[in-house]
Amino acid sequence: MILGDFLVDIVSDGSLRLDGGAMFGVVPRVLWAKLCAVDDLNRIEVALNCLLVRYKDQIILVDTGAGNKWSEKHRRIYALSCGKLVESLKQHDIHPEDITMVINTHLHFDHAGGNTTLRNGQIVPTFPNARYIVQRAEYEHACRPHERDRASYISDDWEPIKHQLELIEGDCEIIPGLEVFRVPGHNLDTQLVRISSGNLKLVFFADIIPTSLHLPYAWVMAYDLYPVELVEQKKRLVPQAEAESWICIFEHDPVLPAGRIVKEKDKYKVLEEACLKPA
Ligand SMILES: [Zn+2]
Repeated sequence: MILGDFLVDIVSDGSLRLDGGAMFGVVPRVLWAKLCAVDDLNRIEVALNCLLVRYKDQIILVDTGAGNKWSEKHRRIYALSCGKLVESLKQHDIHPEDITMVINTHLHFDHAGGNTTLRNGQIVPTFPNARYIVQRAEYEHACRPHERDRASYISDDWEPIKHQLELIEGDCEIIPGLEVFRVPGHNLDTQLVRISSGNLKLVFFADIIPTSLHLPYAWVMAYDLYPVELVEQKKRLVPQAEAESWICIFEHDPVLPAGRIVKEKDKYKVLEEACLKPA
């Protein structure tokens, strides 16, 4: 999709399966199970959609999926079918060396796992020529996580790229028309990405609105560290997205990765943006 000077595509690292109850927090299964398929282990499919942004001589990736550094045990628990990002980029004729910048919304393993790659028994940077843009506070937290979110952080996702890390603080314009802005709720320092061209806006929602099913304000995940704060942020962001017709990217949605939010009879829903589907 063309957005002014930007060429934007969704690329995919694959998918995994997570406990449906954890994905929908306090929402009862009788409600969410009507809306998505559940397997016999109570898991639902969770996509690993990433964003490929081309602008002049910059080739930018937003998040990198879960990557390929997984043990058999983890592969079984999460039905991991990931590590496909490089293949997906190839469909756009992009090679890992071509990537000039990676923006990690945060450092959880399903967003930063593809930062590094297991190759011949060694963990190496997947994108050797890229700067990796991360919020400093998120990086510091990831290095010293709390018991509550320790399982979400794996230092192999950032240790081997330490020399490529660029730590930033708060909201920031990365290149003209592409900004990151901090939204607390899922954790303290997740940064979302917004691309603007004239009146057109595209926002990569990361775990703030992980799928199109998470539009209702109280439908937040059990993984969220600050659910009340997250609900407040959604009460601000969802009406704004509807009013300004943002193109919304839902990182974990296997069915509706991109769409615009519309309001029908006081309920928000998503109209698919069909030109943005992973190849
Ligand atoms: Zn996630």
